[in-house]
Amino acid sequence: MLDKTGVPTKDLVLSKFFDEKTLYKPKAIIECYEEIPCNPCSTSCPFDAIHIGQNINDIPKLDVDLCTGCGICVTSCPGLAIMVAQIKGEKAIFKIAYEQYPLPKKGDIVKGINRHGEEICMCEILNVKLNKNQDKTALIEVSVPLEYIHDFITVRI
Ligand code: SF4
Ligand code: SF4
Repeated sequence: MLDKTGVPTKDLVLSKFFDEKTLYKPKAIIECYEEIPCNPCSTSCPFDAIHIGQNINDIPKLDVDLCTGCGICVTSCPGLAIMVAQIKGEKAIFKIAYEQYPLPKKGDIVKGINRHGEEICMCEILNVKLNKNQDKTALIEVSVPLEYIHDFITVRI
């Protein structure tokens, strides 16, 4: 399915997620499925939590214990292949990269979108950050109903 449509299967997505106990704290979810010569995720992580190894084509691996969920790798990945996820009660809190303008604002209620581009829920923008090294890619924090934790991928305003 990934080859034909560019959309990963649910099983593939689940293989990149962590269990509920681990996601009590925010952790990077790295949806990088193809072997490509790329490593900004690894070089940008200030906690050395993403390892690619000697062969730059290898798939990045997360050391989940070292990941603080800071989100730096999220806006560093040119493929927008990383998000941070955390479970808080009945909500999944995501940090995602967002490159469309105008940017949403804290407190906005926006549409949650799945990997097929379909609207699945409404969600709340909790924070919007632009860091000085990534002036076009914002890091958006968004609260999503927990039932969509494995479906949500981005927002539509
Ligand atoms: S979220 Fe932060 S700590 Fe975790 S892998 Fe990304 S850059 Fe490293
Ligand atoms: S920066 Fe993104 S696309 Fe490149 S290896 Fe890391 S996760 Fe994959």
